Amino acid sequence: MDSVNKAIADIKSQLQWPVECKISDLENQAPSWSLSYTHRISYPKNTCLLDILHEHLHALDRERLPAQYSDGIPPIDNCPWGFEVRVNYYFNVVRDWTVNFRIATLCPDSAREWIEQDYHDKLNIIQQARTPEDKLIVGLAFAEYAKFLGKSDIPTIEDKDIQRVFEVIIDVPTEPNLDELHIAVDALASIFDEFRVQKCIGTKEIWYVIPNLSPACVQPKK
Ligand SMILES: [Zn+2]
Repeated sequence: MDSVNKAIADIKSQLQWPVECKISDLENQAPSWSLSYTHRISYPKNTCLLDILHEHLHALDRERLPAQYSDGIPPIDNCPWGFEVRVNYYFNVVRDWTVNFRIATLCPDSAREWIEQDYHDKLNIIQQARTPEDKLIVGLAFAEYAKFLGKSDIPTIEDKDIQRVFEVIIDVPTEPNLDELHIAVDALASIFDEFRVQKCIGTKEIWYVIPNLSPACVQPKK
C-alpha cells in the first residue's frame, strides 16, 4: 500500500485548497464535497486507502475542471420530481469511471486487486441486481475489469440492461470531459427508458431532464 499512500500524498500536494477529512458514522463511502474553497471528505472507519485516494482525486478535479463536472451535483435545472436522484447516480458512475482509471494508472498493483475483488463481488450478486442503481454498479465493475485490467473472461451478461450499461461505460473516454459526461449520462438514462438529458448552453451549461422525450428531439450521440 506504499504506492497508494504515496499517491495520496502526491495528490494532496497538488491541491491548493485546504482538505478536511473526517471519519463518518456511515457504513458506506460518503461523497466528498467542496464548499467555500475547502474540500470536505468523509469516509467510514474501516475504509481502504484506495477509497481515500478516490476522494482526493475528486477533490483535484474540483479545482481543475468546470464546476458543472466536478461539483458533485449534476448541472440540472427544473428537474421533474423524482428524477434527480437517478440523474445523480448516472452522473457519479461516469465520474467514478474516470477517477478509477487514474487509480489504476497511479497504483496498478493495488488497483488490480481492488478491481478484481469488486468484479468478483458483483459477479456473485448479478442475479439480485434488479434496480437501475444495482445494474449501474455491476456494469461499472465489469467495465473497469475489462478495460483497466484488459480482461476478456467476462461471461455472457444475460441481463440486457447490465449489458447496455457495460457497453456505454466502456466507451466513455477515461479523461474527464463535460461533453462526454453529458453524452454518457443521457445514454445511461435511455437504457432505463424514463427520461433523456438534454444540454442547453447559455452563459453556462445547464442540463434539462425531459421525461419520455420523443426520438426526434434526442441529441444524437457523437
Ligand atoms: Zn466517486
